[in-house]
Amino acid sequence: MYKEHNSLFSEIKQVARYLWKRGWAEKNAGNFSVRLSAKAVASKEQIYPLEQEFSALANQIFLISIKGSRMRNMAKNPKRNTLFIQIGPKGQNFQVIHRNKHAQQAEPTSELSAHLTIHNMLVNSASTARVVMHTHVTELIALTHIPQFCNETALNNLLWSMHPETVMFVPGGVGFVPFELPGSAAIAELTTQKLANHQIAIWEKHGAFSVASSLQDCFDTLDILAKSAKIYFMLRNSLENEDPPGLTSEQLERLRNIVF
Ligand SMILES: [Zn+2]
Repeated sequence: MYKEHNSLFSEIKQVARYLWKRGWAEKNAGNFSVRLSAKAVASKEQIYPLEQEFSALANQIFLISIKGSRMRNMAKNPKRNTLFIQIGPKGQNFQVIHRNKHAQQAEPTSELSAHLTIHNMLVNSASTARVVMHTHVTELIALTHIPQFCNETALNNLLWSMHPETVMFVPGGVGFVPFELPGSAAIAELTTQKLANHQIAIWEKHGAFSVASSLQDCFDTLDILAKSAKIYFMLRNSLENEDPPGLTSEQLERLRNIVF
């Protein structure tokens, strides 16, 4: 199983390093899952029940980060910090079908429920996105500490108005998820609803979830949004806390009309 996934492990190393270097992955913050194209295998490994049935994920195999893993360690050794899991034939349970010898006691991330709920929706909607990534994007977390941006319309208008790339590469904007406890069924459900029609869901005062066809693409979208937020804070500082006007509606309209 390892050989065919060597390029995926190289990508994980690279993206985990970015997340750590950007300061978006303090302690054990951040997790990800990748839906693989590998076929289901017969396994006698222990079966763990899932809280709900993920029928669209029956017999699917995922590579998923382990509970408590550090991105700084992931960047050095992704094989020790991930597990291959296989969902049961009705989507009701899972087995760990392959683990590194140094990860014998490891369990999947505590956000397993959110990851599977999102993947279930992605499969049902025939999305090309196979990767779900959660990280603590400092710049975006800071924005959601400002009450006026805890509102999807205001948040998107700000992000688009600060940087042309945001309009071009995140034209559908971000979904905003009001504060909920991490690991809860409620946050999994709310996040999935937002990701049904956005590339990104931002959790109030916590971080972001990104979906894409690769880890690199998940990172890139967050990177663009973080840049917009950073420009906003730089301008606020230099304008003595006055709100910067940003791109005009005419400029935004012209950007929206660019055909790639
Ligand atoms: Zn988190």
